[in-house]
Amino acid sequence: MMMEEGYKIKEAPVCPHCKQVMEKMDSRHLDWGTTFLWVCYNNDCTLFKKGWKHMMDTMGQLVSYRFMITPDNGSTGVIPAFSLEYVQSQGSSRNRYMQSDDPDEGGDED
Ligand SMILES: [Zn+2]
Repeated sequence: MMMEEGYKIKEAPVCPHCKQVMEKMDSRHLDWGTTFLWVCYNNDCTLFKKGWKHMMDTMGQLVSYRFMITPDNGSTGVIPAFSLEYVQSQGSSRNRYMQSDDPDEGGDED
């Protein structure tokens, strides 16, 4: 059983790319095996800003990624991020785009 008390990174870490304090992102519906991830939500983060150009150059898409740390063992990585407008309109505390495996998504029933 995974308990937050057993996590290695319990207090908000500082992003090494922009020095901003990272925030929790609910990851209970993801495959990380943790209840949350530490994510840098700074839109001025150097990794985030470089990501736009990198992804546009390589993928031709307006997507980027944000720095993240898994709290249970402290390993680092990135998660995908979509346009600034999308993030700002959806808010940073809930990342609905990560729930793309939701079978109800895209339904136009009304
Ligand atoms: Zn950052």
